[in-house]
Amino acid sequence: MKAFVYQSQASRVSFGPGALALLAGELDVLGVTKALVLTTPEQVALGQRVADLLGARCAGVFGGAVMHVPIEAAVEARAVATRLGADGCVAVGGGSTLGLAKAIALTSSLPIVAVPTTYAGSEMTPIYGLTDAGVKKTGRDLRVLPRSVVYDPELMLTLPVAMSITSGMNAIAHAAEGLYAHDGNPIMALMAEEAIRALADALPRVQQAPHDIDARSDALYGAWLAGSVLGNVAMGLHHKLCHTLGGSFNLPHAEVHTVVLPHALAYNAAAAPQAMQRIARALGADDAPRAMQALARRLGAPVSLRAIGMPEAGLDRVAELAVQTPYPNPRPLEQEALRALLQRAFDGAEPA
Ligand code: NAD
Repeated sequence: MKAFVYQSQASRVSFGPGALALLAGELDVLGVTKALVLTTPEQVALGQRVADLLGARCAGVFGGAVMHVPIEAAVEARAVATRLGADGCVAVGGGSTLGLAKAIALTSSLPIVAVPTTYAGSEMTPIYGLTDAGVKKTGRDLRVLPRSVVYDPELMLTLPVAMSITSGMNAIAHAAEGLYAHDGNPIMALMAEEAIRALADALPRVQQAPHDIDARSDALYGAWLAGSVLGNVAMGLHHKLCHTLGGSFNLPHAEVHTVVLPHALAYNAAAAPQAMQRIARALGADDAPRAMQALARRLGAPVSLRAIGMPEAGLDRVAELAVQTPYPNPRPLEQEALRALLQRAFDGAEPA
């Protein structure tokens, strides 16, 4: 076993159908008396439901969360929090809403309570992102790590099946890359393998019966573990490629992850045999990259960049950008090999 450093990040987790009812008590534990409830414009009704549950503990609802946290949204939300005298934030939603809460916490240190409604996992990470003039910058800061997370699988029932699948594959990607992270450790490896197993088992059940609360619970459990991995260890080539593709070509976040993951795993397979073994075991298969793509196909998820709007003419540029400021990765990033990987991902070919 290689040497490691493991630091647990304190986050309280309440999990289970109906857990939303525990939210007010979670605010009390943190001493939050006036929370600003954050949502996307699409989830304002849910935000209002949460506000009703909180009663006097709610300072107001701000429904201005949008993808990738434009700085303008962050500035507006910070001003609203100050104007309403909020002493905490409740983020009800996916990565975009969590991102807005984190933008507020970054400058105010207000505590965040997260109520996740996707499998993206941002609630378990100290990672924030802000987009200024089209450029997204990310960083890590413990002030933005939610202090308490309320996972209520009942809130997942409204997440459309296609989004559930790609969001779940996004979570699997966090766990898969955590298994070969240069700063990985045995605890994260346990969580990562279990995350992949739980999600690979649950997503087909979610697809078959989107209202099966057990399937939704199992998927959310996997997403919690995967988010924890994302928050604790460094991500590699796969996340670099996805950020480059998403950032430069404005492709949908979770779909890009779904398409690229099998190819990124294949690129790293020979350099990370133990990780591949664990991923394959979690998928109940022999070959991790192929089994990952087979899972996506079985779930009816996109398997080509072409299908999600990537222009073929942009592939050269992505390969170029990916080797500049590379993320740590088990196999060195070689521009020519990455260009070939991207072509396969573009065509929806088998991972090689
Ligand atoms: P999202 O938060 O953008 O949500 C997508 C859409 O789905 C929104 O319209 C939202 O309102 C809707 N939605 C969410 N949950 C729903 C539900 N249960 N029912 C019905 N509609 C629902 O999507 P996401 O994939 O969760 O987040 C993506 C963003 O999060 C990206 O910007 C990504 O970079 C970021 N992210 C950050 C981290 C981190 O650690 N900082 C981790 C993962 C993702």
